[in-house]
Amino acid sequence: MTGTTYANLRDLDGRPTAIRCRNGLIEAIGPDVAAPDAIDSGGRLVLPAFVEPHVHLDKTLWGEDWVPGRRAARLRDYIDNERRVLGANTTPPEVRAGRLLGRMLAQGTTAVRSHIDVAPDIGLAHVEAMFRLREAWADRIDLQFVAFPQQGLLCRPGTADLMREAIAMGVETVGGLDPAGIDGDPEGQLRFIFDLAAETGAGVDIHLHDKGELGAWQVRRIADHTAAAGLSGRVMISHAYCLGMIAEAELDRIGKRLADLGISLMSSVPADIAVPPIERLHELGVTVCVGSDGIRDAWSPLGNGDMLERAFLAAFRFDWNTDEDFRRALSCATDQAARAIGLAGYGLQPGNRADFVLLDAVTPGDALARRPAARTVVRRGAVVAG
Ligand SMILES: [Zn+2]
Repeated sequence: MTGTTYANLRDLDGRPTAIRCRNGLIEAIGPDVAAPDAIDSGGRLVLPAFVEPHVHLDKTLWGEDWVPGRRAARLRDYIDNERRVLGANTTPPEVRAGRLLGRMLAQGTTAVRSHIDVAPDIGLAHVEAMFRLREAWADRIDLQFVAFPQQGLLCRPGTADLMREAIAMGVETVGGLDPAGIDGDPEGQLRFIFDLAAETGAGVDIHLHDKGELGAWQVRRIADHTAAAGLSGRVMISHAYCLGMIAEAELDRIGKRLADLGISLMSSVPADIAVPPIERLHELGVTVCVGSDGIRDAWSPLGNGDMLERAFLAAFRFDWNTDEDFRRALSCATDQAARAIGLAGYGLQPGNRADFVLLDAVTPGDALARRPAARTVVRRGAVVAG
């Protein structure tokens, strides 16, 4: 394959740069990189392509008739409502998900971790649908999956066997859901998850909504299980509202443990509840990223899959306003997200995959404030959108 050079770019510090790609990788990057046939990028800001570390592609209603959200008091009510909405929908999951993936790619995302529902009433149908999706999109987006027990794991007989089958089929990560709040058997759920991951070489990604000390206790237990199972660097906790609800000294103790064990955190940075304090956790060495979670689904009709907007929401949520803050916000949707989901060869360095996005902006803060819609997306050195 011949090389392609993208010239007249601007890096995160506003300095001119250029990127030469060859065989899908970055061959060289810097102000002195040049080629007679270089593509003039018009002085646009270049970022490593966005990484979506947490979404539920199988449940999106993207492109379907409008379905308003529903207010509910308990997590269980949302779960039951979603079953009704999806049960009435006849569009195959991979068709709905494919429409959304097209949108995400156009916005600059080239790698996605999606949770897939696994439950007795649907069996492995969503897993099979998402495998068809992955095959159809393999030339444009890197997809990795989590087997997700949305209705509970131990409290729904049959789910554990389906989880085992999903991992055997090629799902890379074992999911979990509020071991205490949903299953009412925190030790049982965690033992199952970590045993399965250790036996199969899979990673772990647990949705943890349980609040306050109950949530924090489960974070500590997840750390214990991670150490015991030898799964350092392979575990993510999604949401972890509890880490925004505990005393500073306790947060620091837990944060240091998470950093030591390479346990990463994902937040959708919701506005209505405490969230993990990203800046402090980054200081402690914890990988913390932002993700979309559900996009236009039965939980909420909001969300659009734009990781630049999700980074903006983090900046807005924490009142970030310095250039350093804005670089941090972008990193939550790029390199922190890549590290969190174990993406190899990521970032704007020679030898890494040539995946990047060009934005009509002069600085990270400018990009976050205006979130320009027109973007050029490069994957493995070739323009795939924009
Ligand atoms: Zn989720």
